[in-house]
Amino acid sequence: MEKLTSQTIHETLDGLKNKSFSAVELTKDYLRAMEEKRLLNAYVLETPDKALAQAQEADRRYHNGNARALEGIPLGIKDLFCTEGIRTTACSHILDGFVPPYESTVTGKLFAAGAGCLGKLNMDEFAMGGSNENSFYGPVYNPWKAEEKLVPGGSSGGSAAAVAANICAAATGTDTGGSIRQPAAFCGVTGIKPTYGRCSRYGIVAFASSLDQAGPIAKDVRDCALLLNVMAGYDEKDSTSAKRNVPDFTKVLGQSVRGLKIGIPAEYRPEGLNAEIAACWDKGIEMLKSAGAEIVNISLPHSKYALAAYYIIAPAEASSNLARYDGLRYGLRVSGDHLDNMYINTRSAGFGQEVKRRIMIGSYVLSAGYYDAYYLKAQKVRRLIRDDFVRAFADCDVILTPTAPTAAFPIGDCSMRENPINMWLNDIFTVSVNLAGLPGLSLPAGLSAAGLPLGLQLIGRPFDEETVFKAAAVIETETGFERLK
Ligand code: GLN
Repeated sequence: MEKLTSQTIHETLDGLKNKSFSAVELTKDYLRAMEEKRLLNAYVLETPDKALAQAQEADRRYHNGNARALEGIPLGIKDLFCTEGIRTTACSHILDGFVPPYESTVTGKLFAAGAGCLGKLNMDEFAMGGSNENSFYGPVYNPWKAEEKLVPGGSSGGSAAAVAANICAAATGTDTGGSIRQPAAFCGVTGIKPTYGRCSRYGIVAFASSLDQAGPIAKDVRDCALLLNVMAGYDEKDSTSAKRNVPDFTKVLGQSVRGLKIGIPAEYRPEGLNAEIAACWDKGIEMLKSAGAEIVNISLPHSKYALAAYYIIAPAEASSNLARYDGLRYGLRVSGDHLDNMYINTRSAGFGQEVKRRIMIGSYVLSAGYYDAYYLKAQKVRRLIRDDFVRAFADCDVILTPTAPTAAFPIGDCSMRENPINMWLNDIFTVSVNLAGLPGLSLPAGLSAAGLPLGLQLIGRPFDEETVFKAAAVIETETGFERLK
């Protein structure tokens, strides 16, 4: 029989309902698997006691017939989500030992729906990065080709690696410029960044507030839909959360895409695009076409400025959000002979190199004299990028692109390390989606010649995750991608 930990959430829920196994048995299997796979460094904190207590409650509820939507499903939680009474550090030294007195809305909803917490997952410090190499707790190893020591992508690297390695049933992620989709692509799992405002940001450590969104990373499309059903919804504690009805996202799965218009942006196929990525994209296009969808060529002419705009706007917001880490209120404090020196010492010791780089860029572009030249220009570009999408969605219903320009690369890859811009280029297909606030999903759609997962991205209209899910389900079925068991 297939291991319990290899099963999807929807398979697991069937097993729990039929009493083929108990939530405690299932949780113990996951805890054992976590122990076996500690070398991946996916978890920065394991919470077995909490997970087992939640599993016991789940078993009681199955017994009493009042099980909730995700009853007994053990999850991993990205360390960016504040979890009440459980250490939360955003994988930064500066948040050493911080134990939040409150729960993020999204994790609170998941636990209130019966899901359990196996522990906190590794990530790039403050979600800044695309390889999980910026974590204070060290890198995460991609479970594919373990002997080659590849990155899992980032910043939700721990989340994607843990889902792929079957050491959680699914995980939470956050995505500011691609951090759900790119690691999902690198690890051969599925993740969706919902429309900005779909999920509450309350209790999620802020990186760039106008771009950050929470979303699920899971073993398949249906599991993502099941999780988003629970995670989404208006929250009065987040003024940017949207007063929108949350449909049952699983309803559209399996529906026909006949007549659906799939946009293919010309600008996403630059000269020199990796041939394997291009071939994978072509296969995806063919699959939707043979399923009856109509392929339309679209243009997103300002996409070429997306990275430049993103790497002004995101650091600007980050430099402001991270001003609160001053050694007084949270975590680390390094003393100094004067208050200013205490700030300086704490922030010098507490932040990693990438975070410091972003704070400096952000402070620069927000400073008098440069604000108009950089920050305001970037905001104008952001509007043009959004307008491109509005125009494109007059001609199509959903857009199909690759998720990332490469497959997973080796930890410590020199070309990435020597020049931070190379790392930033990995976000080329994902950042414009955040700038425009749109939903974007990545699913595995094949393997490279080296045997590494390649992802495809579906981008939808604002609050039209349903069409994204519908098209993704078709590609998933046609691809028949084999997850790691
Ligand atoms: N890789 C991008 C960055 O470093 C995106 C990160 C994210 O989405 N959190 O900013």
